[in-house]
Amino acid sequence: MTPDEIDRFITRAIAGEPAACARGCHWCCHQLVVLTCREDARAILDAARARLDTAGFTAFETQVREQAAAIAALGHDVAQAGRWTCPLLRDGACLVYDLRPVACRSVFSPDPECCRAMMEADDFGALTPAQQALATRIGERSFRLQIAINDRRPVDGAKELRQWLVELLDAGRNGER
Ligand code: SF4
Ligand code: SF4
Repeated sequence: MTPDEIDRFITRAIAGEPAACARGCHWCCHQLVVLTCREDARAILDAARARLDTAGFTAFETQVREQAAAIAALGHDVAQAGRWTCPLLRDGACLVYDLRPVACRSVFSPDPECCRAMMEADDFGALTPAQQALATRIGERSFRLQIAINDRRPVDGAKELRQWLVELLDAGRNGER
């Protein structure tokens, strides 16, 4: 499935539910992101290389490697409770919005303020009951959408975005793709 096909599938699945999501709204861009398709990660890395200048890409690679190492040291389950500003978030917007992972495409919220509260809260219990209910609904729907999309295309394995990028960066150094 191409990114456009994935978007059309998701649009049909959410059936006109209200969503405030748009490029530049980024409260949801401070967490771990799991990808299941190597080609998605490859497209993201190629786009980052093309859209950043040499110094920018070097800084991006350093950030990716540092975060990947920190996440690996903690372990995914512990790390996912933390705040991880995505290395692709540049000047408040996603550098690869047109190519963003399925996990990012499948998150829809009608209320950016709830997303901000979720990002800033130290734990789920700090949210109001209404925010907890919305956060749960967003998370469950995103999970269902990702499963449905994975059923429609090849799955290479579930890995966190930074881990995929480090693997591809290392492969590139070895002359592989
Ligand atoms: S999920 Fe929330 S933070 Fe993310 S784009 Fe949508 S409204 Fe904004
Ligand atoms: S890939 Fe883009 S949309 Fe997804 S978390 Fe990173 S900055 Fe946000």
